[in-house]
Amino acid sequence: MNTSGKPSRVASAKASPHTSVVLFTSDLRVHDHPPLRAALAGADAVVPLFVLDRAIEDIGFAGPNRKAFLADCLADLDRRLRDRGGRLVVRGGDLVEQVRAVMAEADAPDLHLAAGVSRYAHDRERRLREALAADGRRLHVHDAVITAVPPGEVTPAGSDHFAVFGPYFRRWSGCGPRAVLGAPRAVRVPDHVRSHPLPAREDLTGLSPGLARGGESEGRARWNAWLRDGIDRYGERHDALADDATSKLSPHLHFGTLSPVELVHRARARATPGAEDFVRQLCWRDFHHQVLAARPRAATADYRTRGDRWRSPDPADSADSPDSAGSADSVAEDVRAWQEGRTGYPIVDAAMRQLLHEGWMHNRGRLLTASFLTKTLYVDWRVGARHFQRLLVDGDLANNQLNWQWMAGTGTDSRPNRVLNPVLQGKRYDPDGAYVRRWVPELREVRGAAVHEPWKLPSEERARHGYPEPLLELAEGLRRFKRARGLG
Ligand code: FAD
Repeated sequence: MNTSGKPSRVASAKASPHTSVVLFTSDLRVHDHPPLRAALAGADAVVPLFVLDRAIEDIGFAGPNRKAFLADCLADLDRRLRDRGGRLVVRGGDLVEQVRAVMAEADAPDLHLAAGVSRYAHDRERRLREALAADGRRLHVHDAVITAVPPGEVTPAGSDHFAVFGPYFRRWSGCGPRAVLGAPRAVRVPDHVRSHPLPAREDLTGLSPGLARGGESEGRARWNAWLRDGIDRYGERHDALADDATSKLSPHLHFGTLSPVELVHRARARATPGAEDFVRQLCWRDFHHQVLAARPRAATADYRTRGDRWRSPDPADSADSPDSAGSADSVAEDVRAWQEGRTGYPIVDAAMRQLLHEGWMHNRGRLLTASFLTKTLYVDWRVGARHFQRLLVDGDLANNQLNWQWMAGTGTDSRPNRVLNPVLQGKRYDPDGAYVRRWVPELREVRGAAVHEPWKLPSEERARHGYPEPLLELAEGLRRFKRARGLG
């Protein structure tokens, strides 16, 4: 049985196991880990396996920030398994070949794996099922490891997924995730199964200088501190850009060093309004995962097309837009200015520079920089999503692509034409300008909210600061966007 009460998806049957293999993917923890617990319950020994998958390397999905965080996670997982008498086995290359080789070495009839949501994860599962069936071995796929509620567990009448968050949240809140599992006390790993050396953060270059540390130990410490000091005031403070009043747990949720099931249970147990607001955000995560699981094409194609003919520096995206006619270079320059935090709109530039420095950005910053790129500059959302994916330590196919689509108006937002005005956003969510001054040193001397409109400062002062002039007038961007969407 899997943990959601439904039968495990099993490829074929074989004699009772002695050693089982657990393939870790986005679930790099020992606490609340259904595949590990099931493997230990059915075998005398296990091989905890992680494969540095060549296919992911080939598509260039993981930038240096996520590779570094992953290296921390693997090192910590290895330590935690060693504390229990085991170790992590790491291999590199073709994932299916490596799994087969390890199962043969360990003479293991069973493989345990957490269910994934992306097209790639579905494909990986299918290839493993076929290969294992050919070898006479079994595949057990466990739900509710990567999300709190498995995609497809709650659906509206007549559809395979919810396209609107509100009704999903109501159903999700009612169904209550499975019980939390403790970490195993002992893990026995056969000595003869070979492992490659673990990757190390120190071997990587091009990292964001302020990148967070990864690993389950770090994740649990951060989570406990958040429960103690942050969660109860989350609702009132989470949008304040300068306050650091969100959990910063997103990379831990992405790599699975923390279990979303455990977080939901423990947050609910606090029964404070702040904790309830936090649980609602965890539901947004499940929401986007169930959309992607049902519509894997939404990783690259519009979930709901609006007939956009986006501007893009990449001719493959949308070369024939009348708005970009004759100006491929200017689109590329607009995108570069946005990426480097030189648009001349301080709140946009502050957020983009936070991304460069930390490999992470506040949610309000993500919303307003995505609105600026897709609506004010009218650039294809895929261009922005690719840039975020390259840098974000929490870069996640479901959350990133579907939030980008939400803001571009091609996703699940019920107000697809909303445009966030960066000056008003700045004044509202950074009223004193502290966030801008933290990330845009050119404007450090400007006091208070005046920092959001540097073009209103006297010209000699502007010249002294050396901060760029706005890339374009907001009204001009709005006109172009409305014309493109046929809004008059
Ligand atoms: P908190 O506010 O403390 O929230 C707790 C957790 O809830 C987060 O860690 C996250 O797992 C989840 N969550 C919160 N908001 C959302 C949301 N809108 N959608 C989905 N899950 C949410 N999140 C990612 O994890 N990876 C991404 O690649 C990603 N890309 C984004 C791109 C854009 C354009 C936008 C607008 C949002 C994106 N988000 C992404 C969602 C959100 O911005 C981050 O999850 C959040 O900022 C992470 O900070 P935190 O952990 O402090 O969040």
